[in-house]
Amino acid sequence: MYQYRQSGDTYVVSIDNHEEIVAALAQFCTEQGILSGRIDGIGAVNSATLRFLDPVTKKYVDRTFDEQMEIAALVGNISEKDGKVYLHLHATFGRRDYTAVAGHLLCSRVNGACEVFVTRHACPVGRRFDEETGLNLYQF
Ligand code: FE
Repeated sequence: MYQYRQSGDTYVVSIDNHEEIVAALAQFCTEQGILSGRIDGIGAVNSATLRFLDPVTKKYVDRTFDEQMEIAALVGNISEKDGKVYLHLHATFGRRDYTAVAGHLLCSRVNGACEVFVTRHACPVGRRFDEETGLNLYQF
């Protein structure tokens, strides 16, 4: 699913071709016991499902893009909810015509390569559901 190399608190992760990125990162963080940290990566995919939260209705609008795209930026954080790894990922994808789509990342399939830095933070961070926003917010 992936290969990695560790350097201190940072892991260099190469997600295998045709793997689903969010599942691969969740598995990696779970296996390494990373419950707090940050993620940034680049690569290429042939599908991505992005999510937009309407703050008025608190409803999610999901949209899938089935096309070859560059991962211009994959950014996110790692925390813990209900004892499990909780990933919050956003991504910007570059299309063939050099326009971009972006949003909260639900899933995306590698088609080419996906190179990610995962940095572990020492302090664990949890989340709780917030009624006002409809979001799982940090709980300090
Ligand atoms: Fe988000």
